[in-house]
Amino acid sequence: MGKTLIVFDFDWSFVDQDTDRWVFEVLSTPLRRLLQTRKSAGTGSQCTPDVVHETMADLAEAGFTKEQVLDALRILPVHPAMKRAVRGLKERKGEDVEFLCLSNSNVVYIGTILKHHGLEDLFSEIITNPAEWSSENPNRLNIGRRLPASEPPHGCTIGCLANMCKGDELEAYLAKRGGRDAWDKVVYVGDGGNDFCPLVRMKAGDWGLVRKGMELDERIREEGDKVGLKVVVKKWEQAWQIEEYFQEL
Ligand SMILES: [Mg+2]
Ligand SMILES: [Zn+2]
Repeated sequence: MGKTLIVFDFDWSFVDQDTDRWVFEVLSTPLRRLLQTRKSAGTGSQCTPDVVHETMADLAEAGFTKEQVLDALRILPVHPAMKRAVRGLKERKGEDVEFLCLSNSNVVYIGTILKHHGLEDLFSEIITNPAEWSSENPNRLNIGRRLPASEPPHGCTIGCLANMCKGDELEAYLAKRGGRDAWDKVVYVGDGGNDFCPLVRMKAGDWGLVRKGMELDERIREEGDKVGLKVVVKKWEQAWQIEEYFQEL
């Protein structure tokens, strides 16, 4: 039996929320509004880490603490069926399955949530934006870009945000882990517009587990044929359906 790589987007895929928005929704409506206003000034529905970084500075300035931010993350909804799905697959396939997290959130948010649910060892790697608590103000979380602004742009023409091309990241990971041929199947679980790029790079027989009615679903409908999408697209709405798909692996 060959090896399977399960790639998870995080927001609205592994978890049932958008981490960036959730922290503000839990703590402060005015700052949630400010995030929205700043985000709308850019393009697309997803936040760049720059916008979140800026608004997290405002959150600390308003007197909110590191512990309050961490508490907000700990109560972020993670569906019990998703936890069961990944644990079950890991138990059944052992060394023949590997999990990769590919997300536009950040290391602190993802790390905090996984640890709270006892899943800190699930992913072999978490590819996301860097983040750290400020040395000047311990309550301020500084969030950076996976691809720093000082580096040459990634040049993706599929429409990834400037801070990360998820398709490039997936290809680099596969290259590092023995090349695509070392894997029997790649399964990608996603919902967002920036999950389209990695799906385009995947092969016939790979699976795209696409959350129904969200941006990725729409992009596949509108652009899938045009770009010659080869993956088998399977739709899901709730985590229990991911568990069902995983049982077929
Ligand atoms: Mg997402
Ligand atoms: Zn891309």
